[in-house]
Amino acid sequence: TYAWFSQRAWVEIDLGALSHNIQQIVQFLSPRTQLMAVVKADAYGHGAITVAQTALQSGASWLGVATVPEGIQLREAGINAPILILGATHTPEQIHAIAQWELQPTLCSPKQALIFSNVLETIQQDSPIPVHIKLDTGMSRLGTNWQQAAEFVQLVQRLPHLVIKSIYSHLATADSPDTTMMQEQHRRFEEAIAQIKAMGIKIPCLHLANSAATLTDSALHYDIVRVGLAVYGLYPATHLQNLIKLKPVLQLKARVTQVKTIAPGTGVSYSHQFIAHKQLRLAVVGIGYADGVPRSLSNNLQVLIRGQRVPQIGTITMDQLMLDVSAFPDLQEGEVVTLLGEQGNEQISADDWAEKLNTISWEILCGFKHRLPRVAV
Ligand code: PLP
Repeated sequence: TYAWFSQRAWVEIDLGALSHNIQQIVQFLSPRTQLMAVVKADAYGHGAITVAQTALQSGASWLGVATVPEGIQLREAGINAPILILGATHTPEQIHAIAQWELQPTLCSPKQALIFSNVLETIQQDSPIPVHIKLDTGMSRLGTNWQQAAEFVQLVQRLPHLVIKSIYSHLATADSPDTTMMQEQHRRFEEAIAQIKAMGIKIPCLHLANSAATLTDSALHYDIVRVGLAVYGLYPATHLQNLIKLKPVLQLKARVTQVKTIAPGTGVSYSHQFIAHKQLRLAVVGIGYADGVPRSLSNNLQVLIRGQRVPQIGTITMDQLMLDVSAFPDLQEGEVVTLLGEQGNEQISADDWAEKLNTISWEILCGFKHRLPRVAV
């Protein structure tokens, strides 16, 4: 009878939906283009190992992570697909680990390339390590300016212990309906490639697109698309919603831990930000801001019970929140509440939360803490 206390709250991961999304994306691509599933930040909060395994089984052929430990975690789980580290790496420890675990680093500058080559010189490394050249075409984040691309590529080509596996860039405005800046980044990328070609350098694999660009224009697909958000079943923008049918992979659930009746005038939770105007049934739910339900959603959150929307009341606390469940006089402790997901005809999405919080769905997904078990269904 205490079994449900061990799972007062959890994140449910629908592997069927994940597999469906991967297949939809792969079908949308031409056979020349491979899919890199971006599984950084613990697969956007979904659990990196399970997501990576399912994505690879369903048609993805590359994995993208942000950091060396994220890559090692996948290798330790027995995953041997190519893994690109999208973030910057510099230290000897990172470079040793990259070589040891056969991870593939991003090279962002000549200085970093020289560090890599020097550190690799000190290791008994039989074969050169594959590296990915990052160009800054307008994001103003990592990468060498696109106008210096040819010199950078030439330098890396001449350095021992490194072999260029791809040249890539990242788009800053791909989710905007106004594609002007994205097209400009595309033009700069093409110009950089033309300059590299003009130096007689053989062009390796190229990639540019994230989810939004993948959905927007097949001219941006090149050899690999690096897709994160769409893999998890969310659309990067409303105007990109009708191109392929995606299913949200993540649901956030918790259980009712106590039910009580409160009298008119009773204050609820810290600072009594909610006062009951009439007698009401109150349910306590075992999830709070330490699990990743933002406190700033207090009194502005709805959850699903038995296929109906139910209002959250009072301040969201660290481990618990309260609901007005007057609509369900027979509600029992242990009953499941859906905070994100579907029940009957009702659905609450990460986009709904993002809109209320003036942020993006990416941040909502990454916000669920490790205290919540990820349960694959
Ligand atoms: N490529 C790079 C370099 C990224 O940093 C990211 C994520 O931020 C992606 C691709 C995937 O982006 P999205 O989740 O929008 O598909």
